[in-house]
Amino acid sequence: MMYSLKMAKRMLLETNKRLLWKLFWNMGIKGTRSVLAHRKRMKKGQFFPPFLYVSIINSCNLRCQGCWVDVASKQQTIDLKAMNKLITEAKAAGNSFFGIVGGEPFMHPELFEILEAHPDCYFQVFTNGQFITPEKAQRLFRMGNVTPLISVEGNEIISDQRRGRDDVYNKTLTGIQNCLDANVMTGVCTSLAKSNIDHLLTEKWVDRLIEMGVLYTWFHVYRPMGPDATPELCLTPEQQRRAREFVVEMRAKKPIIIIDAYYDGDGKALCPAANGISHHINPWGDIEPCPIVQFSRESIHSTEDDQRSLFDKFTQSKYLSDFRSLAQDTTRGCIVLERPELLQQVVENHSAKDSTARGTAMQELKSMIPRTSQYHPGNEIPEKNLYYRIAKKFLFNDFGVYNGKDHTKTAAPYIIKETETAEQPILNIIGQSQGCCGGSSAEDESTTGCCS
Ligand code: SF4
Repeated sequence: MMYSLKMAKRMLLETNKRLLWKLFWNMGIKGTRSVLAHRKRMKKGQFFPPFLYVSIINSCNLRCQGCWVDVASKQQTIDLKAMNKLITEAKAAGNSFFGIVGGEPFMHPELFEILEAHPDCYFQVFTNGQFITPEKAQRLFRMGNVTPLISVEGNEIISDQRRGRDDVYNKTLTGIQNCLDANVMTGVCTSLAKSNIDHLLTEKWVDRLIEMGVLYTWFHVYRPMGPDATPELCLTPEQQRRAREFVVEMRAKKPIIIIDAYYDGDGKALCPAANGISHHINPWGDIEPCPIVQFSRESIHSTEDDQRSLFDKFTQSKYLSDFRSLAQDTTRGCIVLERPELLQQVVENHSAKDSTARGTAMQELKSMIPRTSQYHPGNEIPEKNLYYRIAKKFLFNDFGVYNGKDHTKTAAPYIIKETETAEQPILNIIGQSQGCCGGSSAEDESTTGCCS
């Protein structure tokens, strides 16, 4: 009750009503309709994701540890014309929300033109915030249908370490403040890792965000991917549990919206690519199951050989369909982290191309070791906040894709447990030679904890 009053007060007193209306209509109402349309299509066996995440540029001014985007390669963008086509076609399927990702989206020369061309949509722009000047923040405010989600990865020292440059923290905070001064609906996200969990997974940090005027936050969990995977940053299972508990607790008492993408209202894990609610498009236009699965069969760009609509490319893709089936059959967690060798088979079966500029994605996949992810059966932590429970019941859950699936022989937590019991290296079972987090045996794993 107290939560509702405080949240309602913040919404009414701290937000601009035009922007609140845009959020309510473009994201709330139209976003809801797009998810319901997705559920209806699923009944016919058609998967077109209502939430598309589009990496519009590969370049970035930072060099974050563990980044899987080829930020130092030649700049590649999805231009205004291609974005207009993409968004228009997605709108025809009922979509209204788009996640804009990079690289750093504010380095895209036509970012504002893309956003301004679609006032009937809602855009969430994932950014380090450093290019958001007061003038740019004003322009975002005038549009009203854009929310920057600005990443903070720790205090001054840790941020600078994690992100590979000096003064990252202060420049990012300036970007956040510019948005808040302009009355833009602003979010702050953090990729939780061993190096920042004690600083940022705290009530003090959440209170500070509320005091600043930040409307929502999103705690991701660091995933060791790409050419520089840095697995030593991974959270232990205990830390993962702590993160989930914290989110559930804060949702019930703090007047700030907290987003997560990996749990339903009962606290059961899910994968948003497995239920088809979300897929990803990279700066080259390649359609990927999700940002960390950098293999593709289809492109948003038309070629002589493939003139199909966006909708047909998604709904007819055997590769995407087999990816989803594998993920659904194997685990409620992350197929990439838990069973990379099975993902490798799907990629090879479809001759899906490596969609990175560096061209080493298969090598990286082959060198991955199974780890636990968000799936910890028996340790589900249900939502305490009624609003989240209701919203997730209708709009964010597994949509039945795991019904009747038995993961006890396939998901990492079971396999790891079984192996520990048998006191043999876990990966002997699945044909590899390393333990979780780079340890060489199940013993290493049990002492260091698995990462995700
Ligand atoms: S495959 Fe893993 S990283 Fe990709 S959407 Fe699913 S859970 Fe997330």
